[in-house]
Amino acid sequence: MHVDLIESLRCPHPHADGWLVASADVVVDRRIVHGTVGCPICGAEWAITEGALHIIDPSSLGRSALSHPIADPGDVRADALRTAALLDMRDATGVVLLAGASAYAADALASLTGVLVLVVNPPAGVARAHSRLYVRDALPFGVGSMRGARLDGAHATDAWLESASRAVLRGGRVIAPVSCSVPPALCELARDAHEWVAEVRVAASGLVPLRRG
Ligand SMILES: [Zn+2]
Repeated sequence: MHVDLIESLRCPHPHADGWLVASADVVVDRRIVHGTVGCPICGAEWAITEGALHIIDPSSLGRSALSHPIADPGDVRADALRTAALLDMRDATGVVLLAGASAYAADALASLTGVLVLVVNPPAGVARAHSRLYVRDALPFGVGSMRGARLDGAHATDAWLESASRAVLRGGRVIAPVSCSVPPALCELARDAHEWVAEVRVAASGLVPLRRG
């Protein structure tokens, strides 16, 4: 988990929105390899092991969420190019979130664009060089903390889409399977037989970080 992502995390428990705090035991290239993330409000703590933040045990996601046929390297690069184009990534700023099987494109997308990639519930053994998070039901991120997001079929639910719409900044884009409908906060830009891409038009409200001028 990259240290720059810690301030974007929010406690998944039902209480007032608040930042989480991290305690790092091993840090390599600004990535917390081993450590702990905790909530000062409710006292919950979660482990970071081998670079992945475990809000849930990955094994509890079941085989259907984590298994995916090994993708052909050429297909992976084409998928990364498509993701970069649909998310309008003309520069290397911000964080892009890839959920589930979308994580297969993480390496190619990062080398193609230079952007910081965060993968959520990736298939086993995939995208291990990137910040990883295992979580159930929704994304625990603050408003406007991501530049773009791509969800796969296992994450095509109202709760995941609603949390992705909050996490992506206004003007950023979300890609999701056509099996789910576009939430009200998003404006559809295009779709094919498999996915739609939509832009965040309505900024949600949330915590505003105070910074020195
Ligand atoms: Zn909490």
